[in-house]
Amino acid sequence: MTFSLPPQVNNAIRLLKDNGFEAYCVGGCVRDMVMKKEPHDYDITTSAAPEEMKRVFDGFRVIETGIKHGTLTVLSDGMPLEITTYRVDGEYLDNRHPDTVTFSRELKDDLSRRDFTVNTLCYNEDEGIIDLFGGIEDINNKTIRCVGEPDKRFSEDALRIIRALRFAAVLGFEIEPETAKSILKNKDLLSNIAIERIRDEFTKLICANKVHGLLNEYHAVIEVFLPEIAALRGCEQNTPYHIYDVFEHTLRAVDGIESDKALRLTMLLHDIAKPVCKKTDENGQDHFKGHALVGSGEALNILKRLRYDNKSVDKVCKLIAIHSLPVPNTKAEAKHFLNEHGVENSLDYIKVRFADLSAKANPHCQDERLKRFRGFIDEITAGNECFTLAQLEVNGNDLKEIGITNGKAINRVLSVLLTEVIEESIENKKEALLKRAKEYAKTQ
Ligand code: ATP
Ligand code: MG
Repeated sequence: MTFSLPPQVNNAIRLLKDNGFEAYCVGGCVRDMVMKKEPHDYDITTSAAPEEMKRVFDGFRVIETGIKHGTLTVLSDGMPLEITTYRVDGEYLDNRHPDTVTFSRELKDDLSRRDFTVNTLCYNEDEGIIDLFGGIEDINNKTIRCVGEPDKRFSEDALRIIRALRFAAVLGFEIEPETAKSILKNKDLLSNIAIERIRDEFTKLICANKVHGLLNEYHAVIEVFLPEIAALRGCEQNTPYHIYDVFEHTLRAVDGIESDKALRLTMLLHDIAKPVCKKTDENGQDHFKGHALVGSGEALNILKRLRYDNKSVDKVCKLIAIHSLPVPNTKAEAKHFLNEHGVENSLDYIKVRFADLSAKANPHCQDERLKRFRGFIDEITAGNECFTLAQLEVNGNDLKEIGITNGKAINRVLSVLLTEVIEESIENKKEALLKRAKEYAKTQ
């Protein structure tokens, strides 16, 4: 197998080799090239010790990213490359970090500390692929397998548990049975891992193309840091709209929306409050009144605990709060919706509704209404049609000039004018609006 590496990567490898060291690109980038995918970055592993690397890259811009662990970032013709000295990890006493790191001159030492066989491949143009742990065969068989003894590897660094699920989901691979058994056995070790590290892997996991199968099989792992989802399992929904319990519905809804962090999190948590809001009536029918608002509050706690960024938290909570609002049926209703929730949230609301419906008894029952709403939004925004006070052709000062001076009265009049413009009973023209404002003020 030969691959063409970017010249910046090749040059860095060549420079190390010309100075008498070994050097390869390693890990995800080689895995991706074998799978005929474009790598998103290139990591290099080398026999050169950190001080030796610094000498080799004298004259380059070098950032000492993790010098203690042997990692330098070298800017090679504008491309940042992470270059790391062959490493052997010492004992892991806390399920997350090796207590010591020693450098090595042996490639095999470095590869054997890596997590999964598919992540141990190395490549350079002189030697081609180096595959010491059967990584190619596992890629061909679509298998995630620990390097070495799974129990030992997961107890060294429990983050690997969630990484295994992440790679399986993202690559569309199966987890090899011994590795799978060990994941479930060691899942509680995840509580020793910093939540930010779990969050980053979990985010990649839920953004995979299909997550249903994995989250279903390994729900117990997810429940270690997201215990709230346990109550969704077995929470039946005896309503005309549903055929699945809340968990099954949730997983299908996650797969039903595009791979965007906030949208995936929204679907994952959109019905999180259904178990607490569930009421069964005398006919045996279930109702979940208020679950959207209660769920939005629960999601806030969960996402803060997982230390998601504020922007994503706000978006997810907002979308959960509005996810079960009725779809606007007319252009005027669409404008009221836009005024209340903004254009971006309204467009996302449509995506959320489609995904939510895709996981229900009648997946296409609202397609037409949603498409029509989408069409209204396009028309309204393209035509710059008025749906907010800011777009109204009069403002508070204009009203003051015609003698409406009281603050509350100004707000009331503006809001009446906006409603009438939205409902198209009056044009958004200054003269007409002022005339109407005077009439209205007289009736007050
Ligand atoms: P991605 O495409 O997501 O970047 P990747 O395989 O490059 O995938 P990274 O998290 O960037 O994953 O890690 C780079 C490499 O470092 C991995 O391929 C693996 O060899 C090794 N690695 C990363 N984290 C661990 C870990 N916790 N335990 C063992 N090896 C690890
Ligand atoms: Mg990587």
